[in-house]
Amino acid sequence: MGMDFNKDKVVVEVNNVTVKYGKVIALKNVSMSICNGEKVMIIGPNGSGKTTLLKLLMGFVKPLKGSVRIFGYDPSKIPLNIRKRIAIVTERASAPMYLRIRDYLSIVLDVYGARDSKWINNVLNVLGLDRILSRRIGSLSQGYRKRVEIAAALAVKPKLLLLDEPYANVDPVTRLVIDKALNDLGEGVTTIITSHVPPTPYLGIDRVIALIDGNVAWSGSTTYRISFTLRCVNTEVSIDNVRILESLIKEGCIIKEVKIEDPYLKVLEALMYKTMSMGS
Ligand code: ADP
Ligand code: MG
Repeated sequence: MGMDFNKDKVVVEVNNVTVKYGKVIALKNVSMSICNGEKVMIIGPNGSGKTTLLKLLMGFVKPLKGSVRIFGYDPSKIPLNIRKRIAIVTERASAPMYLRIRDYLSIVLDVYGARDSKWINNVLNVLGLDRILSRRIGSLSQGYRKRVEIAAALAVKPKLLLLDEPYANVDPVTRLVIDKALNDLGEGVTTIITSHVPPTPYLGIDRVIALIDGNVAWSGSTTYRISFTLRCVNTEVSIDNVRILESLIKEGCIIKEVKIEDPYLKVLEALMYKTMSMGS
């Protein structure tokens, strides 16, 4: 099996997976498939199984039941040439504190065999690291350490990028910088991000999957929905299509009401009520 990067190709396939740590069920009959180039955010409260899901994809934990395929392979048996196209940013800082940013990046790039210096400079520039390359990682703020780890991940030009809670302990400006980098430099990169905060529009997320208590509680798009109510002569019309809106206005209809619906808020509300009813 080779690497096939067609748009509709499934890159990540999780089929009815259950994961247990001793008696604790971390994931319960979870299924999802993620296509090439898709950007997916996994949200959910603490302990809902987000990190376990990523560990499953990395082959760090094995399913008790069900199956996982990454680029068609069992995660624990991915050949090295494909492993080199997968980049992971763990929740805990992993870059050694005593290294300078420049040296850390050069070690990572050597390991991955990445040499496109124009691309690498672009990554450093977008993440605001180009002028501080001789700083030691240990002297950086949490936000800048995260920028360094994300820079290293993007610099190797991955085909699959996994990020576990990249926004934890990160200031809001850095968060936008990270989102912009993942969007601008991550085009065509299948990206899975876990988070407990909603995606910003900068990130360009295609789909949100909400986990609660090891189950997929909700999955869908987070694009805002806008609807219009118009008064046309004696009748009222409700529409959500801008082109129809244009033609109705040309015919003399008047906008009476505009409604903006944020599906993500609905997800959070649903999770909140579910969590409350479980008493946790
Ligand atoms: P999240 O990342 O959403 O906070 P995790 O995947 O870390 O959730 O954890 C899911 C559940 O599995 C939690 O109940 C957690 O306590 C439990 N868990 C995670 N790792 C271990 C482990 N190594 N040993 C035992 N239980 C664990
Ligand atoms: Mg976690």
